Amino acid sequence: MYNTLKMMYTNTYSCVNINNKVTDWFKTENGCRQGDVLSPTAFSIIINDLLKELNTSGLGVKLDANLIISVLAFADDIVLIAESAENLQKLIDIVHKWSAKWRFIVNPEKSQIVHFRNAPKAQTGHVFKLHTDGPVLEKVNSYKYLGVYFDEYLTFKKATDILATAGGRALGAMINKYKALNDLGYDTYTKLYNSLVSPIIDYGSSVWGFKSYDNLDKIQNRATRFFIGVHRFAPILGHVGDMGWGSNRSRWKLNILRLWNRLVGMDNNRLLKNVFLWDRGQHSTTNKSNFNAQVKQILIDCNMKTLYTNLHPVDIDRLKVIFREKDMLSWENSVKDKCKLDFLTQIKPTLSIEPFVKLNIGRYERSLLAQLRYGILQIQLETGRYNNEKRENRLCKICDRGVVEDQYHFVFHCPAYNDKRNVFTALMQTRIPEWGTMNDTQKFEILFKNHSRALGKFVRDLFLYRKNLIYK
Ligand SMILES: [Zn+2]
Repeated sequence: MYNTLKMMYTNTYSCVNINNKVTDWFKTENGCRQGDVLSPTAFSIIINDLLKELNTSGLGVKLDANLIISVLAFADDIVLIAESAENLQKLIDIVHKWSAKWRFIVNPEKSQIVHFRNAPKAQTGHVFKLHTDGPVLEKVNSYKYLGVYFDEYLTFKKATDILATAGGRALGAMINKYKALNDLGYDTYTKLYNSLVSPIIDYGSSVWGFKSYDNLDKIQNRATRFFIGVHRFAPILGHVGDMGWGSNRSRWKLNILRLWNRLVGMDNNRLLKNVFLWDRGQHSTTNKSNFNAQVKQILIDCNMKTLYTNLHPVDIDRLKVIFREKDMLSWENSVKDKCKLDFLTQIKPTLSIEPFVKLNIGRYERSLLAQLRYGILQIQLETGRYNNEKRENRLCKICDRGVVEDQYHFVFHCPAYNDKRNVFTALMQTRIPEWGTMNDTQKFEILFKNHSRALGKFVRDLFLYRKNLIYK
């Protein structure tokens, strides 16, 4: 084994392949072989001595008497942590000595210092150096570790801003592809979103997903808004409610609980498990708001506190159902306060995938139906609002009968559309035996529920006809 390794690393030469042209061969005298399956193991063996030295230095973050953490390492990405600037400098000195001994070079450009603290405490004035005569290490306010930005106050603002930018780009690309494919319907759209966009905006959410983030909610809202086909100022609760997708926050809570499941099942001699148990102890003695506090609160909200107390894993599928119900309840409560959505609340009692959304009707019809539901269809009810007219003064100018032009008047009563409406009514009477005895709200309800294709076509006819009348 030793001889094999020795041979592999004796007289090694490399060259670089650029656009299928290779450069001259050059001798490689240090480092692991590029692309070799053995390299990560070889590197681990080498770096292990350093990690041991750092961990036995006693300079790191003291969790308890037997648990001091000085270093986190993932391949060649090494993070030193300490409770004071002086101790951190001592850890850096250890790394420097070790690297000099083994002829490694630590890149000062890629090494930075973050001072984690509570706001608004000022950043440390300590000057960190790689070695006494070496370059000063830059102090920054965040650092990316394993793809997640940790900022100095642990707000995760930067982390989620960056995810929002990436998620927005992914959504843009997805929408472009979707447009080119000519509207594939709700299920495909949802699947595309769940596989192309939500994995990006959820990245690391088991760590930061303990609160809501506007920047990420905006991405999901843009996705539902695009599919429904309404403008930027359309009431969010409208399209969110009709698409019936779960909230970001519910997905993140599930991710937090998935991490919980991994942690409670983890072997007790793993470092991560020990940190987890320390975190738990911290919460129980000081009531600190930490990971365990988050899990506990989530489980209390679900009447499952005993799982927290007994360190039991949770049933993720069951939690999915519970979070779904919670999303529905919170939607119902918020929609009640929105006077703009009074029409929607009359015909739609809960957050659920609406049939008109699932039905493969044209984009224009889908958009018109949504606008009608959310009170933003361009009839007097909405356009009068732009001129600050009182609701009772937004009268129908098409028939001029002194009646407010709202959804009911426009679809069921305005005499200007009698010819078209008679055809529609006759069709509905054949389909719905009770039609004659129903009130307007009941009619809208059943139309949206079972006849949204016919309703969409009818509303489109009325709306285009109305446009013509106005331009004349
Ligand atoms: Zn009218």
